[in-house]
Amino acid sequence: MTSFRLDNRRALITGASRGIGAGLARGLAEAGADLVLVARGQEALEKTQQELADTGQQVAACAFDVGQSDQLASFFNEVVEKHGPIDILVNNAGTSHREVAHKIPLQEWHRVVALNLTSVFALSQAFANHRIQRSEPGKIINIGSLLSHTARENNAPYAASKGGIYLLTKSLAVDWASHNISVNGIGPGYIDTPLTAPLRNDAKFNEWVLERCPAGRWGTPDDLVGAAVFLASPASNFVTGHMLYVDGGWLARF
Ligand code: NDP
Repeated sequence: MTSFRLDNRRALITGASRGIGAGLARGLAEAGADLVLVARGQEALEKTQQELADTGQQVAACAFDVGQSDQLASFFNEVVEKHGPIDILVNNAGTSHREVAHKIPLQEWHRVVALNLTSVFALSQAFANHRIQRSEPGKIINIGSLLSHTARENNAPYAASKGGIYLLTKSLAVDWASHNISVNGIGPGYIDTPLTAPLRNDAKFNEWVLERCPAGRWGTPDDLVGAAVFLASPASNFVTGHMLYVDGGWLARF
């Protein structure tokens, strides 16, 4: 199973201080990757960094607001200068604004789209230029959502941005396949993280998730690790432009 190992590779993960990003960080480190963790809060990042010490991998913590897409190229280049080449990029940081569509302030639309979609394009572009200049392969994993595929009430900016991730993933895959840069996505179902804590604490919503999901449970960040290691590793070298839903069967059921 050596083609699933990530030894001598370095992964940059956005939104890595908690939730899905922190879970993926542990999974990639256990598969052998060194890490650069990115989120806004330095303290939480350093806590996650310390929690990963037992993996024995190099783990750097770089605080940055990924929503500032016009500064992402220079941020990425600084990271490379300081920590070395990046082989794997996980675009995970994301946000939402829940409100009925006709009441959503335009600035909230821009905030959600800037982080969930524009930043993914800008950081992927910086990463691809870096890999192409070095003539070396690369792996990009974009975190989508069930809402990359379908809509729900009161979530238009989120669904539009995650739907955008679906076709951005395919577009980048097509443009960069000849450079051996694979671009794939993971579409998580409902996952137990700080982001979804208010939903789990809402008895009616929680009951709906348990009933609607064929697996009958919330997912955990650990449930996403197998897909992420596969898409980050040489085992998936001929897989590109794919959105892998990890959802306990959610989308399989009408
Ligand atoms: P959390 O809110 O638990 O964690 C979000 C992470 O992103 C934190 O580390 C946070 O740190 C960081 N972050 C937020 N904004 C920024 C920013 N502007 N710049 C840099 N880092 C930022 O979210 P989840 O782990 O639940 O979600 C992660 C991803 O998975 C998102 O893209 C989400 O849409 C997606 N997803 C989640 C699902 C779920 O059920 N949980 C389902 C489907 C998709 P800090 O605040 O310090 O910046």
